[in-house]
Amino acid sequence: MSLPDFSGTTPQERLASLRRSVAGRIVFTTSFGLEDQAITHMIREGGHDIEIVTLDTGRLYSETHAVWAETEQRYGLRIRSFHPDPQALAALLDDWGANGFYHTKDARLACCGVRKVEPLKRALAGAEAWVTGLRADQSQARGDVMAIEFDTGRGLAKAAPLHDWSREDVARFCETNGVPVNALHAQGYPSIGCEPCTRAVKPGEPERAGRWWWEQDDAKECGLHVDADGKFVRAKEAVQ
Ligand code: SF4
Repeated sequence: MSLPDFSGTTPQERLASLRRSVAGRIVFTTSFGLEDQAITHMIREGGHDIEIVTLDTGRLYSETHAVWAETEQRYGLRIRSFHPDPQALAALLDDWGANGFYHTKDARLACCGVRKVEPLKRALAGAEAWVTGLRADQSQARGDVMAIEFDTGRGLAKAAPLHDWSREDVARFCETNGVPVNALHAQGYPSIGCEPCTRAVKPGEPERAGRWWWEQDDAKECGLHVDADGKFVRAKEAVQ
């Protein structure tokens, strides 16, 4: 299957190319981090018909809900939220307990599966393209992130308009454009996920060191961007 047009030297140009070349639904999933806030701004300023959705895991920081509300107000939109299936959540808690994710990797993956991966599947159902805030220099595991790829598991094109931007590029863009940002970023949280699984990083630590910090392996991901073997999904094709 051929990939849609994602040409352009700026993220804004890439989003415009994508929207022009995809006939069907395009979904952008935001977790309200710095990158996602920049993309929300670009989508709204560009007037693109790209659906903005989020996964409300039930364990998010209050600061994340605050910037969610601020974003809806600033851009005059309602961000559709997807939640864990109640029965699956009850079974998860029965099996592993309230904070079982601290004890075994299986429990952690099961929790991410119920709270993130399955809701994401519903969020992307019927979409032809998925926009993400991934950047290549976020971590070693994400080093091969390219502009666009075909996500064979989900049967859609997966696009990363900020793939070649640095953290500083994104921060500068948000500051210049007055984009609302999560208050936790200023408190040492470059990457923000669920409250029990995120901590601040120390100066010099990698951006994602504060995510699942008790796990020792390098490729710490929640399952949204990994394949069936648990490896980070790498791009198959790059488009400039
Ligand atoms: Fe559960 Fe932590 Fe994954 Fe959130 S990040 S879904 S609390 S294991």
